[in-house]
Amino acid sequence: MNKTQINRPSNRPSNRPSNRPSNRSGQCLCGKVSYTIYGDCRDIVLCHCQQCLRFHGYHGAYTAVARQDIKIADTAQKLAWYQSSAEVTRGFCNECGASLFWSKQGLTTLSVAAGSLSQPTKLNMIAHIFTEQMADYDTICDDLQQYDSGLQST
Ligand SMILES: [Zn+2]
Ligand SMILES: [Zn+2]
Repeated sequence: MNKTQINRPSNRPSNRPSNRPSNRSGQCLCGKVSYTIYGDCRDIVLCHCQQCLRFHGYHGAYTAVARQDIKIADTAQKLAWYQSSAEVTRGFCNECGASLFWSKQGLTTLSVAAGSLSQPTKLNMIAHIFTEQMADYDTICDDLQQYDSGLQST
């Protein structure tokens, strides 16, 4: 498979509309954890891995932002982190259970669950990853790029 480079937050092609209409924001279901994004967002990647299935209840959908470009507001201290593998922790609200973040050690970006973003996001879906772990009831009905495993560095 031809693994074309996925757009990184800091390296967007110029022929696409700006990905930064204004600062984006988002929140969990109960609203006790919220965030504001001050920089560009990567377009959305759908992750079919087993861990996303269990964490999200279905495949995961994530944008990614430079860590310094996101400010998380958690005054009620409801944001909890679950270490789902040696290098990965997943952030969720321990009041409402909403899944919010995916963080891998050593990456300069933080992945943000697309469903937590407030509309309009002005983002596009660009790829499916970990398709070899896809649930047997799931079907890909689009012509986006598909990858057996994860992205190189996002
Ligand atoms: Zn919540
Ligand atoms: Zn996943």
